[in-house]
This record gives sequence, structure tokens and C-alpha cells, in this order.
Amino acid sequence: MDEAVKIGPAIVRPTRQEAEAAVRTLLAWAGDNPQREGLLDTPRRVVEAYEELFAGYEADPDEALRRVFRDVEGYADIVVVRDIPFVSHCEHHIAPFTGKAHIGYYPRAGAVGLSKLARVVEMFARRLQTQEAMTAQIAEAIERGLNPRGVAVMIEAEHSCMSMRGVKKVGASTVTTEFTGVFRTDREEQRRFLDLLRAAR
Ligand SMILES: [Zn+2]
Repeated sequence: MDEAVKIGPAIVRPTRQEAEAAVRTLLAWAGDNPQREGLLDTPRRVVEAYEELFAGYEADPDEALRRVFRDVEGYADIVVVRDIPFVSHCEHHIAPFTGKAHIGYYPRAGAVGLSKLARVVEMFARRLQTQEAMTAQIAEAIERGLNPRGVAVMIEAEHSCMSMRGVKKVGASTVTTEFTGVFRTDREEQRRFLDLLRAAR
């Protein structure tokens, strides 16, 4: 299930003018005057920020992982990349959630440069997301791209829609995991991944 495909051709993109008009409507909805000095450039800035914050819709994770590596032949043990920082936005409130992704996999046919994994995280983070869906999408993309013996993804994040509104729980973090292959079938492999995340830094 690839969200980008569903979104892509089915939706007609509004013009920049239409997008800026929508921001003015929200400013008025918040109770302010979109015509006052301090807010005049806000619609333009918000629309530009959206281009950057939601650049993930234009990005193709499969393509990013295709330009890979066979340059680590002989290494078949676990690869773990910890603490990949990201900023995403929840699809329910368009509120930011920020955190770290940790990825582990067992190479079969080769490995990727570590920055490629960070790129994949960013591609999915820069879309409207739920943390659960993002965790699964990252695992699926690595599974498709690398055909490893297993992929483990853990995401820890703090959701501003929880800390700023609603239940107002500051500092609460949400942890999600997705395991494929040997990580799914073998509890020892899961434990090894989790131990490596905890290991001395
Ligand atoms: Zn939310």
C-alpha cells in the first residue's frame, strides 16, 4: 500500500494563489485579521514552508534505495543505525511530531550507505502521517529495496498535538515498532536489535 501513488494522480494540485487564500481563511478562523501588517506575508511563508515540510510526496524511496551498494560483500551480520532524527506532521491535526528512528537489518544481497536510510526516513516523515503508518512504510520500503533477511524499525516520538492541545501531556513519548523477516519470526533477533539500541553510546 503506497500512499504516494494514491495521492498523486487522483488529486488536482491547487494553485499557489488558492493555497495562500486558504491560509488567509484559517487566519481569520483563528480570530485574527489577515490584512494586518504582521500577517500580510504569512500566507506566502506558510505555503513555502509546506513545500519543504511536505516534500516527501515528490520523493521516491524505491529510487533512493535502488542506487545501492553491493560494496559490502561478505558482511552479513546485523546493521543498526540509531537516532535518525526527523520532523513529521500528524495527519489528524497537521501538528508536528518529532523524534528519532532506529533501523536494523540483516543484509542479504548488499547494504546501503547509512545516509540512504536517513533519506528514506525523511521521505516518509515529510508527509502527513501517523507514527504507526510511518513505521510500517519505512520497514516496507527497506524490505522492497534491499530484500534483507529481516528489517526492524523503532520510532520514538513526541506529538505536539498531545502536548499542546487535548490531553496536554508534555514529555510523553510514543514508541512504535515494525519487524519483518527474522525479526518477526525470531524473538532472539528482536531482543538483539533492542539490546543494540540500548548499548553504550
Ligand atoms: Zn494529531
